[in-house]
Amino acid sequence: MKICRFEAQDGGADRIGVVSNEGIRDVSSVLAQLPTVRWPLPSGDLLIAHLQRLRPKMEELACVATPIPLASVRLKTPIANPGKILCGIGNFPEIFDKGREPGQFGMFIKPTSALSGPQDDVVLRWPERTTFHEVELAIIIGKGGVGISAAHALEHVAGYAIGLDMTLQGEERISFNKSFDTYGVVGPWMVTADEIPDPSVMTFWLKVNGEVRQQDSIGRLVYNVALLVEHAASVMTLVPGDVIMSGTPPLTTGPVVPGDVMHAHMDLIGDMTVAVRAGPGRSVAANQVALAKERSLASV
Ligand code: MN
Repeated sequence: MKICRFEAQDGGADRIGVVSNEGIRDVSSVLAQLPTVRWPLPSGDLLIAHLQRLRPKMEELACVATPIPLASVRLKTPIANPGKILCGIGNFPEIFDKGREPGQFGMFIKPTSALSGPQDDVVLRWPERTTFHEVELAIIIGKGGVGISAAHALEHVAGYAIGLDMTLQGEERISFNKSFDTYGVVGPWMVTADEIPDPSVMTFWLKVNGEVRQQDSIGRLVYNVALLVEHAASVMTLVPGDVIMSGTPPLTTGPVVPGDVMHAHMDLIGDMTVAVRAGPGRSVAANQVALAKERSLASV
C-alpha cells in the first residue's frame, strides 16, 4: 500500500490517502480510530504506530473512495511526527574499499524540523553557499525497539520512501550542515514493507533539470536495510515513525542552485519532483560574527 499525506485544494486539515495509478483515495476518516492522546505525548508517529491495526479499514475505505488526481493536491511528507531522523555514513563500496566501513562512522541525526515533503521545495537558506544533493532510501520504522538483530530488523520496518539528504558544503560540522529546514526531504509517499520484501533489488536515480546526476542500486549498500536498523538500534531506542536514511553514493553528489528542479526515482516507490529555491541569506550570522569581534575587542 502506498500511503500519502496531502493537503486538499481547499486547504484544511492534513488528509491521509492511498495512492494508486488512478490517483489518491482519501481514507482520512480512519484517523478517528487513533487513540486520543494527552500530554505527555507518546514518542513517534501515532499513525505509523497503529498502522497494522488500521490497515484493513484503510483498504476498505480506499475501495469505495473516488480517486483524486495526484496533480490536484499538495503532497506533504508522509511521516508527520518522526521521533528522529538517522542517516547512514560511508555506506557505499567506494568508501568501504578504502578500508572504512560504516560501523566506524556511526550515524548522524537530522532534526525533525529539517523534514519536508516534495512540494515544500528545498530552500537554500544560505544561497550564497553551496548545497549538495544526496539521494537515499528512507526506511520508516514501524515497530520500535532497541537491540534489534539484523535477522529480525525487517519486521521493524513499516515501509520505504525516497530521501534527499541535502548537505551544505564547507566547514560546518555534521549535523548542522544537514539540518537546515527542508534539508531532509522524505516522500512522495510511504510504500509499505510488504510491497518491497527485498529492498536490495531497487535501483534509483536523481536528475537535476533533466540531467542524470546520481544513478545506483540499493543492492550496493555496504550496510543493507537490516544492518542499518541493527546498527541504529544497537545504541538507541527506535520508535514508530523514525526515519533511517541509507547513505548516498558518494562520488555522484553535486550542487543545486535556486531554480533547479530535482527529480528522484526509486523502483517500487515511484517518482518525486522537488524544486530548489533561495532563502534569505546569511546576513544574521554575519552580523553575529561582527558583534562577537567587537565584544572581544571591547573586553581587551
Ligand atoms: Mn547522506
